[in-house]
Parts: sequence; structure tokens; C-alpha cells
Amino acid sequence: MSISRMLPLRISNFLFSSHNPLSISTHHPPLFLRKMSMDTQSSAARLIDSGLLRSQGLIGGKWTDAYDGKFIKVHNPATGDVIASVPCMGRRETTDAISSAYDTFNSWSKLTASERSKCLRKWYDLLIAHKEDLAKLITLEQGKPLKEALGEVSYGASFIEFYAEEAKRVYGDIIPSTLADRRLFVLKQPVGVVGAITPWNFPLAMITRKVGPALACGCTVVIKPSELTPLTALAAAELSLQAGIPPGVVNVVMGNASDIGDTLLASPQVRKITFTGSTAVGKKLMAGASGTVKKVSLELGGNAPCIVFDDADLDVAVKGALAAKFRNSGQTCVCANRILVQEGIYEKFANAFSSAVQSLQVGNGLAEGVAQGPLINVAALQKVESFIQDATSKGAKIMLGGKRHSLGRTFYEPTVLTDVDSDMRISREEVFGPVAPLLRFKTEEEAIRNAKDTNAGLAAYIFTTNMSRSWRVSEALEFGLVGINEGIISTEVAPFGGVKQSGLGREGSKYGMDEYLEIKYVCLGNMNSP
Ligand code: NAP
Repeated sequence: MSISRMLPLRISNFLFSSHNPLSISTHHPPLFLRKMSMDTQSSAARLIDSGLLRSQGLIGGKWTDAYDGKFIKVHNPATGDVIASVPCMGRRETTDAISSAYDTFNSWSKLTASERSKCLRKWYDLLIAHKEDLAKLITLEQGKPLKEALGEVSYGASFIEFYAEEAKRVYGDIIPSTLADRRLFVLKQPVGVVGAITPWNFPLAMITRKVGPALACGCTVVIKPSELTPLTALAAAELSLQAGIPPGVVNVVMGNASDIGDTLLASPQVRKITFTGSTAVGKKLMAGASGTVKKVSLELGGNAPCIVFDDADLDVAVKGALAAKFRNSGQTCVCANRILVQEGIYEKFANAFSSAVQSLQVGNGLAEGVAQGPLINVAALQKVESFIQDATSKGAKIMLGGKRHSLGRTFYEPTVLTDVDSDMRISREEVFGPVAPLLRFKTEEEAIRNAKDTNAGLAAYIFTTNMSRSWRVSEALEFGLVGINEGIISTEVAPFGGVKQSGLGREGSKYGMDEYLEIKYVCLGNMNSP
């Protein structure tokens, strides 16, 4: 983390509107004028609405600096340029954000479901109205190609729309009583203040997938986005205010992750922690939540098998595996981590898949036609290199790529490895990069055994034209999501989540609401007394 005590850099001027790129809004701190790189001067990087550029945290509806004046720089992973600096917050700011969420809970949870629904619907409309700007922010701070970023905005906004509708459907129950003079009821009530900690790989969607159902149920939230991608979170929070969601319902703090996390965990006012990120951090949060016995939802790392059977439609399998592996340059929790190919189709699949991978254009996500952006940082690149080094030293062969891209920095060539086996690190750990390892198998039983041979259990993919096999294998796999002849299956209307060490709970769909509700049993007794 690079922290600066100097005059805040805040938002670099290239991000401001092309209509008036150097305007200083009263809502914004002074601009730091600096020499821009050719890349960042491009009109493609300018936002239509400069009001979306927020470089402060949001506490109780007020845009706030770190109390000690510290800042974190936010970089564009494609160029290394500093885009902005945001406050490096810690315990004191988090405590205030929790207090504001706690104070607001009373009024927000008492609104009718229909009133909350209207606010959420307005927020959805604003997210969609600003989708070009939000997508640019995502590409600038995260690196994914603009087309994928636009897809993330639609996907992310869809959770707000879906839960605006679900807000009105939080039904309780009436239970037939065992005694004639009693009536038994079940009420569903919001859990209270929610701490939402999110990763960098989907800077918008991982937030809306939590905040949509939380707000719909009547909860208030303290969001902690990744320090690598805070600008999208802040823009979404700005739009939540514009949508009429009352100050204090949505709070955003960022900075020292463990201080913020520890403060959320220790506070008895926070009743729920919802986390998306690595399994290692998820385990720490789960342990930390025990002190105050909070509800916990965890969306953690994966190690997705993608199984291609001899009877697969080759074109469908290549297209599906390509999408499942190379989306966001391989940096998603549901990315195909191991591609298991049956021996009868192995050579044909490897050749067709490699030529498809070869056609992926690598570059700055803002450039037209780019399908593969940079990795998030140099550490991620080095991790990918260490996987390749381990695999090749143990007999894997590089069919395509296998080295840093000539663009330099954090760009890596889309890579296909053959002759990979289950003991190599690349098969056992989450790769999170543009490397597709191909493993060979003989029988369906062997494929299932290998696929399940991991502590993770998030997504799995099967490619086959045999319907009975598709059911048989889906049922046998220990994973929370299974795609049959499809490489991208996430949607707001279906439950998303893992088993084993990939997490607890579900996001999206009607099941996503349950994570933010408490069940209360009410017994009305002695009804026969006057
Ligand atoms: P990460 O390192 O675990 O970070 C996730 C979030 O936790 C960030 O906001 C991070 O803050 C914060 N954090 C780190 N240490 C913390 C602590 N001690 N206490 C509280 N918060 C802490 O994960 P990442 O590298 O950002 O994301 C990649 C991982 O997320 C992969 O494993 C991927 O599979 C997983 N993921 C899972 C899903 C899913 O739905 N299952 C979806 C997307 C990603 P800073 O960034 O500010 O340090």
C-alpha cells in the first residue's frame, strides 16, 4: 500500500468530462495538475459526468477524508499511472460509519417495503443511466476490457433491480397451532447493520450483490471496497444518494483492511459480516466474527474444473471453456482453473482451443477490440510465472504463450499448457491469471474423482451431449454451481455460492434475501380468556 501524506492527488484531470476537463466542482477537492501519459489523455478515458468521481469515504451521508489525512494511491494496472488518491481510513472512521449505519437502521427498516423498493429502483435506473462512466472507472482501476466492464455494470445493476422487486415479497408464516387457544406466527426481520467487505475483481457487482438484498430487507451497510478499486464503489455510493437512499444507509470506508475489518468484527452493533475474497481472509473473518456471534456469509476462492467429454460438441466446448477461463484475464473466482479433457478428444480440443486463445487481443482495456487486459498488479503476474515454472519443471508443455507479454508491466500472454497433472501447483491452487492447464482423463469416474480432489467447491463446468451423463456428473460434483455446455452462468435470478472452503451462504435469487433476515417466532396465547 502506498500512503501519501502530501497534498492529496485526489482525481487526475483526465477523468473529468470532455466538455470541461479542468472544471473544479464545488463538490470536489482541488485538482492536482500533472503531466499525463498519452494513454490517459485519450478521450476514451474521460467521464461524461465528473460528479461520479469521488475521492473521499462516505460516512453518514458526508464525504469524508481520513481523520489523520493519510491517502492511498489508486493505480491504473494497464499503465501504472496514478488515477486518484483516496483516504486511508482505519478504526476511528469505521467506528463512526458503524454508528451512522446503526442510527439510521431504525428509520430505514421502518419504511414500508414499497418505499425501500422505490429507492432501490431509482438507484438501478441511475446505475444504468451512468453505465458508460461506471464501466470506464472499472476499466481504469481494475483493467478489464471496456466491453466486459459494461457487462459488469449491467450484471451489477441487475441485483439492485431484482432486490427492489424482492423487497415486497418478504413473507412470514402462520403455523397451525398444536393448542386451540394459541396462534403461531413467523416474522422475518432485517438483521441490522451489515459490514460488507469486497474484492477488486468485480468492483461494482460484488458490492451490489450484497447491498441490494441488505437494503431491500431494511438493513444498513458499511462497505469496505478493495483499496485497489475504490472509485467504482464511491461512484455507486454517490448514485445511491442521488437516488434518495437516506444518508447513513450506505457508508463506505477504505484503507487499512485489517483495522477496518477488526473494527467491524468487534462491534456489537454490526450484526452481519458479508465477505467476498480469498479463502485465507474469509477464514480470519469467520473466526473473528465468533467474538460477537455475528451472522457470516462468505464468497471465497474457487478451483473450478471444466470437464470436456469425448461426446462434447467441440465448438460449444471451445467457446465455453474460453469464456470460463479467460474472462477478466482469468481473474474471477469461477474461472475454469483445470480443464479436464477425455483422451479421445484431447488432441482435437487442444488444437482448436489454442487457436481460439491465440486470437484474443491483449492490451489496455480502453482500446477497441481488446479481449485481455492486464493482471491487477506485478505480484499477480509473478504468481502466474511461478505456476508455469512449477508445472513445466514437472513435465507440463507450453502449447501457447507462457511468458510476459511484449506490452510489459502486468501483461501476460494468454497461455495454454498441456500434459498437466493433478499434483502440480497449478491444479491445486487458484491460478487467477490467463493460463489454461489441460489435463487428460480416461473415464467418467476418473473425471469426477479428479474434479472433486480440491478443498474448493464453487463452480464446475461440464461439456457433453449425453443428457444422462450431464445429470449424473452434475449430481456427483461437490460444487455450488454447475454449468452444462455453458461457460458463463451467473445471473441475478439464480443462487451463487460455494460449498467446502469456497464459502457459506448464497447471493442472488430469492435465497440471497435470507442472508439478511432474522426469523422471529411469535406466539399469541390464552386467546380464550376475555
Ligand atoms: P482478498 O485479498 O481476500 O481481499 C478481499 C477484501 O478483503 C479486500 O477488500 C481486502 O482489502 C479485504 N481484506 C484483506 N485482509 C483483510 C483483513 N484482515 N480484514 C478485513 N478485510 C481484509 O481477496 P482479493 O485478492 O481482493 O480477491 C480475490 C479473491 O476473491 C480470489 O480468491 C477470488 O476467488 C475471490 N472471489 C470470490 C468470489 C465469490 O463469489 N466466491 C467472487 C470474487 C472473488 P484490501 O484490498 O484493501 O487489502
